[in-house]
Amino acid sequence: MNGLENELESLQNEGLERTIRTCSNVPGKPGYTLRKDRLLLNLSSNDYLGLAQHPKIIESMRDVLLLEGAGAGASRLITGNRGPYDRLEESLAAWQNCEAALVFANGYMANSGVIRALAGRGDVVFSDRLNHASIVDGIVMSRAEHARYRHNDMEHLRHLLNKYRDRPRKLIVTDAVFSMDGDQAHLREIAALKREYGAMLMVDEAHSGGVYGVHGEGLCHELGLHDEVDVHMGTFSKSFGVYGAYVTGSRTLIRWLVNKARPLIYSTALPPAIVAGIGIALELVQAGHERRQYLLSASKLFRSSLGNAGFQVAEGNSPIVPVIVGDNHTALRFSEMLETDGIAASAIRPPTVPDGTARIRFSLTEAHTEQELIDAIAKICRVGHQLGVLET
Ligand SMILES: *Cc1c(COP(=O)(O)O)cnc(C)c1O
Repeated sequence: MNGLENELESLQNEGLERTIRTCSNVPGKPGYTLRKDRLLLNLSSNDYLGLAQHPKIIESMRDVLLLEGAGAGASRLITGNRGPYDRLEESLAAWQNCEAALVFANGYMANSGVIRALAGRGDVVFSDRLNHASIVDGIVMSRAEHARYRHNDMEHLRHLLNKYRDRPRKLIVTDAVFSMDGDQAHLREIAALKREYGAMLMVDEAHSGGVYGVHGEGLCHELGLHDEVDVHMGTFSKSFGVYGAYVTGSRTLIRWLVNKARPLIYSTALPPAIVAGIGIALELVQAGHERRQYLLSASKLFRSSLGNAGFQVAEGNSPIVPVIVGDNHTALRFSEMLETDGIAASAIRPPTVPDGTARIRFSLTEAHTEQELIDAIAKICRVGHQLGVLET
């Protein structure tokens, strides 16, 4: 087929082919997954607060499913907007202490739709080089200038802001916690630059919503910066354990998005049962301070243990703990050997991460006990020695 087979072959030879494998839920054991009938400790899940199996969420979804049916039947601007949406958006605005909120079908659609709505030809979007692919795609679709700055390099960002200072509309966009590295954006410096240059600021809290802040509001709240952020975005598919995404901000922003965000306008509304489940998840996230504290202390233990063992571990305090291996084949082999040892941990390779930085990306959840993590660390070190990733 026009050379696709050959290209797939070379992807495979370079250790870069991706495949989809089947995993099953293990009822009552949220920290685990089943693959080929084998029980694996799941160190590759984004269900940070262990809510995906929460009985209250499931119950509310079932109740609304019976009342409202399987699908919404139309986009929200037509007849797809049901009661659970309005209630959820009110609660989201109150939670984020801002004027208004808008629910999207998922984070990918929120990011790509919002950026495209806020910037167009002649404008410029300043974006960290390690931002999520959905942000990159939004910028490309917007046709705005893509001013990519080196990861967390504030001097480079300032240089670019200066270079494009006369553009009509300027948008700075960043992940709060970077998804493949687990480190944080320098939000205080970014907010100061945004003010200095009169730009808008959009922050993606996909991996920090639910994890930081007294009520899980995210990193911007934890740092006292939420008033500086014009567009606050997060997903319901990670800490919330469900599916979907939110954008919060001013009434003007939300009114603009209702008119301009194409994924909202031209796509069917999320099923009402999902929206109801998110509503309960939001209550659990807000009340989940102990879950957060445990998650962050377990992450600290896990990160420092692997670092002390000699692995190259990215800095940070998030539940995302990547071990950089470098070579693609070694990363794949590492992941396979961990699976043999009862651990699910994915190898992340280019183009998701820069060339030469293939890694095992561990992500922890509140459902993992300290003993499970200590056992996992011992296994990870053993495999690291066997593969020569750790010196003996
Ligand atoms: C996962 C993720 C998204 C996409 O969210 P989905 O709801 O899964 O589509 C967006 N941004 C970042 C930083 C993410 O990690």
